Amino acid sequence: VLCDPQSLIKDLNPQQMEAVKYYGQALLIGAGAGSGKTRVLTRRIAWLLAHGFWASSILAITFTNKAAAEMRERLAALVGPEAEHMWISTFHSACVRILRRDGKEIGLTSGFSIYDTADCERLVKLISGDLNIDTKRYTPRMLLGKISDCKNSLISWQDQLKSVNCDYKPGQRGYQVSAGDVDELVAVMYAEYQYRLAMANAVDFDDLIMRTVELFQRCPQVSEYYRHKFRYIFVDEYQDTNHAQYVLVRELSGIDSGEQPDPHMRGAGRVGPSWITVVGDSDQSIYAFRGADIRNIQDFEQDFPNAKTIMLEQNYRSTQTILDAANAVIARNENRKPKKLWTALGEGDKIVGYAADNAQQEAGWIANEIARIHNEEGVAYRDIAIMYRANAQSRSLEEAMINANLPYQLVGGTKFYERREIKDALAYLQAIVNPADNVNVRRILNVPKRGLGVRAEGLVASYADAHGTTFFEAIEHMEQIEGMSTRTTKPLSAFRDMMHELAAFAKDHDTKPSEVVAEVLAKSGILEELQRSEDPQDASRVDNLSQLQSVAAEFEQNTPDATLAGFLETTALVADSDQLPGENEDSGKVTMMTLHTAKGLEYPYVFLTGMEQGTFPHQRAMEDTSELAEERRLAYVGITRAKRRLYVTRAAVRAQWGQASDMMPSQFLDEIPDELIDWKRREAGVERMRASWQDDDDEFGGWDDDDDFGSMSFGGSSYGKSDYSSSYGSGSRWSRSSYGSSSYGAGRSQYGGP
Ligand code: ATP
Ligand code: MG
Repeated sequence: VLCDPQSLIKDLNPQQMEAVKYYGQALLIGAGAGSGKTRVLTRRIAWLLAHGFWASSILAITFTNKAAAEMRERLAALVGPEAEHMWISTFHSACVRILRRDGKEIGLTSGFSIYDTADCERLVKLISGDLNIDTKRYTPRMLLGKISDCKNSLISWQDQLKSVNCDYKPGQRGYQVSAGDVDELVAVMYAEYQYRLAMANAVDFDDLIMRTVELFQRCPQVSEYYRHKFRYIFVDEYQDTNHAQYVLVRELSGIDSGEQPDPHMRGAGRVGPSWITVVGDSDQSIYAFRGADIRNIQDFEQDFPNAKTIMLEQNYRSTQTILDAANAVIARNENRKPKKLWTALGEGDKIVGYAADNAQQEAGWIANEIARIHNEEGVAYRDIAIMYRANAQSRSLEEAMINANLPYQLVGGTKFYERREIKDALAYLQAIVNPADNVNVRRILNVPKRGLGVRAEGLVASYADAHGTTFFEAIEHMEQIEGMSTRTTKPLSAFRDMMHELAAFAKDHDTKPSEVVAEVLAKSGILEELQRSEDPQDASRVDNLSQLQSVAAEFEQNTPDATLAGFLETTALVADSDQLPGENEDSGKVTMMTLHTAKGLEYPYVFLTGMEQGTFPHQRAMEDTSELAEERRLAYVGITRAKRRLYVTRAAVRAQWGQASDMMPSQFLDEIPDELIDWKRREAGVERMRASWQDDDDEFGGWDDDDDFGSMSFGGSSYGKSDYSSSYGSGSRWSRSSYGSSSYGAGRSQYGGP
């Protein structure tokens, strides 16, 4: 026994306790925000360990790497070093591990590269060039989105081609996509994209899941191995799994294997489906745009026979006021099971509201208020978070924080690993580990500049294409490439030799990843080029590169047998929220992040900003009931991040697409019962809005009495709430065309702008 099991449940409520102790094959813990789902999941794992179940037979899936690290830490504290033997990771990390070990069965050798979004866009651009696709009309982003949809639904490129009756063969040249046929275009792109990924021994993020499923379905011995290894599977945030992840869980659980459950199973090696515990809240499903399917959690009881559902009802995070606001907002969504959620923490502070004239003023007020509660109420900066719907909103907030001299950290935005110089350095490392990685080899061919321009790259590429070799292999045969001048062959052979030397250096068993990083920076010339530059931005690039080396050194310290491939893996898998400092670090800074990134986290003081129609809910969502429902769930997630005090702010004018637009208050503000909000400033920009409304008389023909407008409070309470929301729902009068930035943009010019 690793620890006293009773100590694991003594501070839990009866439902939580029941969930921790439940002895059975399938368990769903469904509950509202802050009810201790994640805590119970962690305790349940510890409980099993304390009762002699094997750590090595446990697989726990979390939504971010940060959540995984936190869970591992907690479990180590609860049960000791035994925690090391468990797999606690995201879906993606778990799949990387599986594919590194067994991917060869489906043609992936273990050094495969993982392409991030920027790499993928590059690849799509290359293909678009070859297929004469107009990238203005069909942007790489759009095409990648479609490919991603296919993968999240486990639709193969072969199926996709078939479904549009297209006989394209990957690698085929001179193919003409029928003009204007988007479906065919997507199918052809998908096929070619997968082909080039395979040629490069590379995968993208969605592939990690899809190809692992493929591996399990094609290789029974492999799926059997993992099925027998992982007898206990745990999934947090189950409401955000997509179809591919759902099938992966099913495969792992062996529920379809036909084996009978063994009620006495203990440890690995026995047959029968694994135990599965999933945890989630359908009201917090916010990743539909990545294919998350809310039905996965709704149908759990049908999917897993004899499943037990335990609902948690006590919230331990927030005050009653915050919970009331959250419950009132989410109650507007249709087709949901109403949930009871209560707290013993008392009523607490009122929600604080503020309506600013514009985004700058909104940000300024927030910075002021943060300084005030820090100075007057002794609130620590690390206990404060500012949240927003879209990354672009962070700029004015950041400026205000800088002006007010307040410490803050931004989560997301231009991330460290997406910076140009970091990507360049990583591309070198990637090319060393996997020379077949065409995208990365081509990326560094002329970085730093060595006289290998577009022409040289094109010559090598067409040779590779014609001879079915990788780009780097073509370089090795450069003397056979026609049309190559000595001005090209000289730097090209220097490049080739350098890559060979770097690879030889990295191969040496004693070489640590950080040493390879140092060697690449020195030998490649990227560091030198930046150091010679007089551009101040390049100086910070040098700092970033030195930080990369520190990251590698840190990785070595935390990882026994650290390899270069292993290092690249961790860099490829860092998600937004992973840039947050861990629990024990005292960041002493205000945290700024998008609402999506905030999932699962909690802060005593939370500012929900940009509460405007068109900002939040997002413009796109306002015409579409299901998207609006998703935005409302996002609002629910945001509100429930707050423990002690919630702030809601909005701006009456915000720049959208470079144009100042008048913004109406978010309908979510109106859905919060009025008595819960203490408005520090309730109205803003009313005069101006009234002016533009009067100009647009026709569009608001239904509201013929101007005096009504005058008396209307835009804070959202003095006219009937139901009127407001129902006219939104109906969508005609309040539709985008009469409401959106375009008509306001026009109106604005009539009164001269802000
Ligand atoms: P979310 O839906 O946001 O992911 P959750 O249901 O996973 O929330 P947790 O994060 O596990 O909730 O718990 C919320 C907070 O309540 C945490 O600070 C946790 O430590 C605390 N908590 C949960 N259960 C208890 C309990 N029985 N006693 C005291 N505190 C608790
Ligand atoms: Mg949680």
